[in-house]
Amino acid sequence: MAFRLRKKKDMPGGLWSKCPSCTKMIYSKDLEQNMSICPECGFHNTVSARKRVEITADPGTFVEHFSDLKPTDRLGFVDNIPYSEKIEKAQEKTGNADALLAGECSIGGHPAVVAVLDFTFMGGSMGEVVGEKITRAVELAGEKNVPVLIFSASGGARMHEGAISLMQMAKTCGALKKFQMNGGFSISVMTNPTTGGVTASFASICDVTVAEPDALIGFAGPRVIQNTIRQELPDGFQRSEFLLDKGQVDLIVTRDNMREKLGQLLGYAAKQVVSS
Ligand SMILES: [Zn+2]
Repeated sequence: MAFRLRKKKDMPGGLWSKCPSCTKMIYSKDLEQNMSICPECGFHNTVSARKRVEITADPGTFVEHFSDLKPTDRLGFVDNIPYSEKIEKAQEKTGNADALLAGECSIGGHPAVVAVLDFTFMGGSMGEVVGEKITRAVELAGEKNVPVLIFSASGGARMHEGAISLMQMAKTCGALKKFQMNGGFSISVMTNPTTGGVTASFASICDVTVAEPDALIGFAGPRVIQNTIRQELPDGFQRSEFLLDKGQVDLIVTRDNMREKLGQLLGYAAKQVVSS
């Protein structure tokens, strides 16, 4: 299930923002022009799904799909406020229906389908709509015979949707498995943070797993694990570099190099199809 990450204060229209890694005050415009990578320490701040597409897809090639899917409060879930109100607030704040943006585009000249989680919408949590859109994106890639790329930034399953959100783990994995059995090529790009049911499902089972530097990637949070096993955790635990060393991540790519590197990977896959 989703676990809470430290709440970052929203600074609407703020000229300056504090880097969560080096704590330096950064001029917001500089940060934006630098793909939200801290110019002081290189920390990769979270970007919205639309921004992710803008900096990754070849300019002007993105065509959105499945934007008509909207979340429903099936359980009438209430915590501090009703889930239905939470949805409305997130929709107002982000201008999006839910936490996933999907569509077709090209990357480095290679056609692909992309599914991008949006951390700015309820922490990128996976409910019914997110799972359904990922599944449809994978199926669309299968129909079009192109690779699928899934970008993750998520606190995990959306607890407000209970078992329905957990079902999305099996559904998305089923779709990817079918796609892979038919010869489809998939890339998972894990960004800070990729956690909970997202890590435990589609984000971990693609053909190639890419991570941005220093991203938190794990199932349960480090504090929960430390309290459970009652042992000091090693340095860099659950970070991209640690996971690369252990073999869970295949390569680490900086954001400014992402389009080129993904284009290269898609190029290898295309050659593989032609020669087989
Ligand atoms: Zn910094």
